[in-house]
Amino acid sequence: MTATAPSGETLWSRCGGCAALLYRKRLRRNLDVCPECGLHTRLAAPERISQLVDPGSFRPLPDRAVEVDPIGFVDVLPYPHRLTAARADTGLAEAVLCGTATVGGSRCALAVMDFRFLGGSLGCAVGELITRTAEQALESGVPLVLVTASGGARMQEGALSLMQMATVSQAMAALREAGLLTVSVLTDPTYGGVAASFATSADLVLAESGARMGFAGPRVIRQVTGRSLPEGFQTAEFLLRHGQVDMVVPRHALRARLATLLAVAGTGRRATKRSDAPAPPSASAPAVDPSRAPARDAWETVRLARHPARPTTLDYLETTFDGFTELHGDRLGGDCPAVVGGLARLDGRHLMVIGHQKGHTTAELAARNFGMATPAGHRKALRLMRLAARIGLPVVTLVDTPGADPGVDAEEHGQAAAIAENILTLSMLPTPVVTVVTGEGGSGGALALAVADRVLMLQHAVYSVISPEGCAAILWPGRTAAPQAARALRLTAPDLCRLGVVDEVVPEPDGSAADDPEATARAVRQALLANLLPLLDVPAVTLVQRRRRRFRRFGAARAGARAGAR
Ligand SMILES: [Zn+2]
Repeated sequence: MTATAPSGETLWSRCGGCAALLYRKRLRRNLDVCPECGLHTRLAAPERISQLVDPGSFRPLPDRAVEVDPIGFVDVLPYPHRLTAARADTGLAEAVLCGTATVGGSRCALAVMDFRFLGGSLGCAVGELITRTAEQALESGVPLVLVTASGGARMQEGALSLMQMATVSQAMAALREAGLLTVSVLTDPTYGGVAASFATSADLVLAESGARMGFAGPRVIRQVTGRSLPEGFQTAEFLLRHGQVDMVVPRHALRARLATLLAVAGTGRRATKRSDAPAPPSASAPAVDPSRAPARDAWETVRLARHPARPTTLDYLETTFDGFTELHGDRLGGDCPAVVGGLARLDGRHLMVIGHQKGHTTAELAARNFGMATPAGHRKALRLMRLAARIGLPVVTLVDTPGADPGVDAEEHGQAAAIAENILTLSMLPTPVVTVVTGEGGSGGALALAVADRVLMLQHAVYSVISPEGCAAILWPGRTAAPQAARALRLTAPDLCRLGVVDEVVPEPDGSAADDPEATARAVRQALLANLLPLLDVPAVTLVQRRRRRFRRFGAARAGARAGAR
């Protein structure tokens, strides 16, 4: 077989990353990722499609775009000549290949760009084809997947090329309004008009390993600023660190990751009006009768709530929930490590889980900013709440924070407004929200995740307007009065249940959650199911009305509700 092969060049190729000589078939088997250095070589659109979708499932869109040279552009060559050459070189009609397919059994519409075709530039025909693909998604009620590779606008089509950013964005807007998921996969390179429209306005933005994305290209930036650029500028990892993408995915994992995400899309509240009867409302009766709960000293409870061995949000995501897919970034410039969030399943039901993340060791705690969210953390949470509402997923939040980050940087980035926006958005969110205060519920930072339909609290968690130390420092002569302050603040679960701030106390195992994380995880799961299931069939309007009533009643604290007044 090899004896009849035409020439050495077609059998072997040299890696652009490490210069290793690679057997072509081996490279192809490895999805065109260099087995030596991991370089992801650029893929032609047909290859990309065959790698991503279920075999044989791709159906190209029926309509062909009309030939366009809208402004009769000529540089050294007339534009039509360049088009003809690109068609001959690539075997494609345009710089994008569009159709419908299934990925992991889930249907979607997809548009895959091809950088070989005039640099994947966004001309009128490309815009038209992607728009039609989005319209197809809308018509069929399926998610839209966009794989981008582009240098930007197609200057040979002048301002009409620029308009494509708006044309495609409008089609994306219609999908948003319809609650249909959009996913973009950034591949190398994605720049200019494509980056500044549909590549980054999708609900979920994945970056393939090795992809670079930005509005302005590095050469332009260097020219304009006269400065050298930082190492790794605009790479996938850079984008993740700066909150621009949800995740970085190596090519070999892309299909599976897409399959997971598309599977979620078909399961939202709108998609699955469950006919099986929800758990009876009596499930909302307190699991622990607050008046009979063993009385523990408030200060001792504070210490239990802060215990480093207490399960964290990521622990619960491992134990209480299944199939967690973490989503990153606020899309504005940051990814706060003190807030984690993403898609997960609870007893087979898809939902969005968002929580504060502390850690068990000093190193973990420091890396997570001790669970104190920055504005970027609050804005990541906000983005995920809104996404959940759009695609019809319930939201579960896990609260465990000493408070919002009190730094200078946080103030510069609008910490107060970030918290305020979360509280406001949760007051309007048209999807069920259940909160569990799992450790420390510290002030505004806690409430930014806790304006919920049901607010649960672990038995030895605390929830307070200020830390006992902070309160003591202000109202007592010194910090040593923290234990007295803890008692005076009524910050324990039984107290807050009596005040109506908390709806239900989730029992902890003997000792505390730190002594038996597994039993705690089971208790949290049980409590979540009992509280969430009855909410799933409540119409969004009613949910929001009830939620507002729930918090409205704190406007005039009832005398009879004072702690200990029962
Ligand atoms: Zn290599």
